[in-house]
Amino acid sequence: MKFVCIGRNYVDHIKELSNDRPSEPVVFIKPDTALLDQNIFYYPRFSKDVHYELELVFRISKIGKNIESKYAHKYIDAYGLGIDFTARDVQAKLKEKGLPWEKAKAFNGSAFLSGLKPFDPILLDNPIYFHLEVNGQKVQDGDSSLMIWNVSELIEDVSTYFTLKTGDIIFTGTPAGVGPVQIGDKLAGFLGSEKLFELTIA
Ligand code: ZN
Repeated sequence: MKFVCIGRNYVDHIKELSNDRPSEPVVFIKPDTALLDQNIFYYPRFSKDVHYELELVFRISKIGKNIESKYAHKYIDAYGLGIDFTARDVQAKLKEKGLPWEKAKAFNGSAFLSGLKPFDPILLDNPIYFHLEVNGQKVQDGDSSLMIWNVSELIEDVSTYFTLKTGDIIFTGTPAGVGPVQIGDKLAGFLGSEKLFELTIA
């Protein structure tokens, strides 16, 4: 499986990083080795500025290529939350030189997934609210209506380039409020009012 991740999909987050609003989705891939399948994130030694990015995630249920947005919901079977851990200092250097972001974005443990919930297409008719707390303080919140491209449009775009396979995970981009993590921090992710995960930085 792979993680297909979207950058710059929320206007407020684009502003906080002083990026330009893209004319089409910004896409990057994390390999399966990026999966963090435990509730501890070990701070990597190659960075001094790892940031959390809480994102809505959707799981692909069957193989597809060139999927039209109106059929995209048929390719999703679960959804939940993920953290796109980003070595912001490494990314800043790469961006400066116009180089690919993988060292900053796709390292081992950079893709944390909450437990996922069954997906119903009706969920796409209303905003899906989510937020992140660090040490009990709310630091990020957003909802799916604030996305520049919704998940159906994202699936259409990415499947133009990449075959989506069963079990692939779409990270739909982060809202504003990204920030650094420190060793000892406790992160908690909420979907609506339901706590979906707790995660410790070590
Ligand atoms: Zn992200």
